[in-house]
Amino acid sequence: TTAASSAGPSGTSSAFPAGSGNTRTAARIAPHSHIKGLGLDNEGFALPSASGFVGQNIAREACGVVVDLIKSKKFSGRALLLAGAPGTGKTALALAISQELGSKVPFCPMVGSEVYSTEVKKTEVLAEVFRRAIGIRIKEAKEVYEGELTELTPTESENPLSGYGKTVSHVVIGLKTVKGTKQLRLDPGIYEAILKEKIVVGDVVYIEANTGAVKARPHRVGRSDAYASAHLVKSQRTEVTDKLRREVNKVVKSYVDQGVAEVVPGVVFIDEVHMLDIECFTYLNLLLESPMAPTVIFATNRGTSLVRGTDDVVSPHGIPVDLLDRCLIVKTEGYTKEQVADVVQLRAQVEGLTLGPGVLDKIAVEGERASLRYALQLLAPASVVSQLAGRSEITLEDIGEMNELFLDAKTSASAMGDFEGGLRR
Ligand code: ATP
Repeated sequence: TTAASSAGPSGTSSAFPAGSGNTRTAARIAPHSHIKGLGLDNEGFALPSASGFVGQNIAREACGVVVDLIKSKKFSGRALLLAGAPGTGKTALALAISQELGSKVPFCPMVGSEVYSTEVKKTEVLAEVFRRAIGIRIKEAKEVYEGELTELTPTESENPLSGYGKTVSHVVIGLKTVKGTKQLRLDPGIYEAILKEKIVVGDVVYIEANTGAVKARPHRVGRSDAYASAHLVKSQRTEVTDKLRREVNKVVKSYVDQGVAEVVPGVVFIDEVHMLDIECFTYLNLLLESPMAPTVIFATNRGTSLVRGTDDVVSPHGIPVDLLDRCLIVKTEGYTKEQVADVVQLRAQVEGLTLGPGVLDKIAVEGERASLRYALQLLAPASVVSQLAGRSEITLEDIGEMNELFLDAKTSASAMGDFEGGLRR
């Protein structure tokens, strides 16, 4: 899938945002590799545990409705806002939505605070992520030929329908390519198209003969020029300038017009959306208006707060009301001990870890006390400790050691509170 399109409003400047790209996206998606979809039945009801999803039934069902809206093109100009405590599966839901939309749908996650890069304008960071979320699906074109026309021989035969006169039954075309000369026997439509385009022997032609769609166009350039420019494009490395974007847009548009490619709108996921400021929110309103806009999903764990970049605008989730009005809001809930255990079990399987007796229960208790994320985060270091001890499974002692070495967020914050209190006294 290639990201290339005119997703953002025109006039945006050029460079990639710092740290954007696939490595970062992959790192963000890896903790969710057990998520394969929303886990809904045919009627849109959440199965208790399916597609890697556990619980969160109402949120999953609501997301299922959003998927239907997107598929029936009734979601444009709008956004989904997932509101809930940290680690309650907001990112997992956003990823599942993109999976439900199709396996090749690009998923582009970012965190609100990423816009405050010193190198790139805030709005540019947003424009870039929106652009990355537009995929181009190249349709399988089995019969596409390109080369220098060396032969054009129409073959005539009796018209079997009218019983008299002769019509072209097929055309023999010779094409010289870098791999040598080819002779093709093609439909008469191609012959007509070639005549219509006034293509003559010696021209470089592009012929698309799949599923009846006939295209023929000459590249009226000398062969050496054609190869020279191809070489130039290949060897040139450049940052994304407006000019290059326009060029890319032009190529993409021509592919779409020819029916060779189709545009696949992906999903932009902006976590901690309350970290954006008023300038970004205004720009987001604009981006949402674009006919090429991808599906936009926001997430926040904030209640009512000040909209950043303003002195006195207080709004739910720190999002200005005009943008909030465009959002469908879905809430995520906390997890029970059993649900934490189920998710931990899923992750252990994906990470190839064996949990010894009582370990799952112990981690689930930790998860219920602290958070699901804390419980999941215990797994990897505990496995390192067990491996160092030469064991193949994680034991209760490993988890105990983890709890001594690491703190969950609440314990750590309250420890700091005690420390600060001590300083004040
Ligand atoms: P934050 O607000 O901190 O970004 P979040 O709400 O986006 O958190 P996630 O990152 O989606 O939370 O969830 C934390 C981890 O728990 C991830 O590995 C995620 O895949 C997993 N997870 C969360 N909820 C579920 C669930 N209901 N079923 C299965 N896995 C889940």
